[in-house]
Amino acid sequence: MGWKHEYTWETLFHFICGECKNWWSYAGIIEKREDGKDQSMICPHCGYKASIKMKEGFKHNGKES
Ligand SMILES: [Zn+2]
Repeated sequence: MGWKHEYTWETLFHFICGECKNWWSYAGIIEKREDGKDQSMICPHCGYKASIKMKEGFKHNGKES
């Protein structure tokens, strides 16, 4: 019996800027805010800050969420 391969994983998010339409990736976790407000993010290209939302029609594991 050999040693097993150990793994971890991460989620990679792909964002498209609501202003300049450039894209960037974010690896990690996006948690819901405790105050119930939308999370916001700053575009690394143009600095535009806006709340984030999942792209319409996006399917994850074959399911639209
Ligand atoms: Zn931008």
